[in-house]
Amino acid sequence: MTKYDYDLFVIGAGSGGVRASRIAASHGAKVAVAEEYRVGGTCVIRGCVPKKLFVYASQFSDEFEDAEGFGWTVGETSFSWAKLIANKDKEIDRLNGIYIRNLERSGVTIIQSRAILKDAHTVHLVGEGRDVTADKILIATGATPFLPHDVKGIEHAITSNEAFHLEELPNEIIVVGGGYIAVEFAGIFNGLGVKTGLLYRADRILRGFDEDLRIGLMDEMRKKGVDVRTHAHITEIERRGGKLHVTLKDGTVIETGAVLYATGRKPHSRGLGLEEIGVRIRKNDAIEVDAYSQTSVPNIYAVGDVTDRAALTPIAIREGQAFAETVFNANPIAVDHSVIPTAVFSQPELGTVGLTEHEAREKFGEVDIYKTSFRPMKHTMTGREEKTFMKLVVDQKTDRVLGVHLMGPSSGEIIQAVGIAVSMGATKKQFDQTVAVHPSAAEELVTLK
Ligand code: NDP
Repeated sequence: MTKYDYDLFVIGAGSGGVRASRIAASHGAKVAVAEEYRVGGTCVIRGCVPKKLFVYASQFSDEFEDAEGFGWTVGETSFSWAKLIANKDKEIDRLNGIYIRNLERSGVTIIQSRAILKDAHTVHLVGEGRDVTADKILIATGATPFLPHDVKGIEHAITSNEAFHLEELPNEIIVVGGGYIAVEFAGIFNGLGVKTGLLYRADRILRGFDEDLRIGLMDEMRKKGVDVRTHAHITEIERRGGKLHVTLKDGTVIETGAVLYATGRKPHSRGLGLEEIGVRIRKNDAIEVDAYSQTSVPNIYAVGDVTDRAALTPIAIREGQAFAETVFNANPIAVDHSVIPTAVFSQPELGTVGLTEHEAREKFGEVDIYKTSFRPMKHTMTGREEKTFMKLVVDQKTDRVLGVHLMGPSSGEIIQAVGIAVSMGATKKQFDQTVAVHPSAAEELVTLK
């Protein structure tokens, strides 16, 4: 019998917190999870899920155009932002309900309240004005959008949080940043017919991705009509009448309807009472954890974006699961963060796994590069000048495929399957021995010379 109210108290009911709660409960632990907003977390409520629904919505404009080449005549089309938002909200409500029911079915107590730590075993429930105690505590509070403070008028900007609830679709938008969220939202707004600009501070978007993808995506986005500007530094945003005026360092002024900042996310670790009880937090606000997600206070653990290891939903889920297995099932699991397949739902889509060419050369010296760029079969009929790009990075000594980088339709789907081969250490020869699926784009991966 524990002397505490709970064996495990989880703060944050997002991807990591929910998985950890359910697995711990399945191993017999008495678990409670506190959530101050909505069960489901960033991914379900205002991230991956609504984003992907918006991506689908935005792709129809190209589809209507492309249909003509295949003999269709598409009549006049119109788009209702209000309807998209309403249908998206309905779907999010449905998923939120499923998350709540799954937690309840697992025997986890859900507490709708902000929770802060009083000491290593005591949690104060701000909304309810009471304290509860727990043997182990898991922090799974995620991250929140970061806005730079050195831009005058930054209060006129929105973040991805607000983009999901805009009352009206603006006619024009400026998206600031060059990461996942910036390129995805630029594609969404552009596809929905909004005059879209993307302002990035350095020379190539998507830092950390393979150079060919960085260059390729910028080209393709421009072809689709996104005004991608590099070395662009905003100094001021002013509201004049119904418009926003964005001033750049070089004196350029851009008039627009909305400004969306996608300049990164900060781990949500401050104000939770963590530093006060000795939990070490890094300069970038990430909670310091070991391979088993344990913080500097032994009974307190942290998983997901708040630890800033790899800010991705499937990683948070893995970390949550590994934590619960380690602590409540005596089955220590350290999550491997080395090979992570990932997709960017830009337009066109990207898929990537393993090392970039640059990383591979640094780590392995001699590498062979196989790449191809071609017009997808569909566009031989539509006339669209869109290119699909595929690249394999191969270790010259062992023939192992170290990285795969894709740009084109369904890259996210393809990379999931290729990720299995790369995680298993497949060689180029083994790729080549695999029979091609014809006609497909993915067959190029097994026929590259
Ligand atoms: P990222 O960290 O990926 O990108 C932030 C971007 O903003 C970078 O281009 C960065 O430039 C730029 N930036 C940072 N600070 C400033 C500043 N002060 N002024 C101007 N530009 C600035 O963050 P995101 O917000 O795009 O995404 C957050 C995380 O969410 C990602 O790390 C990703 O893991 C996750 N995510 C994953 C998705 C997916 O899997 N499809 C989708 C959406 C999000 P620079 O490169 O020069 O530093």
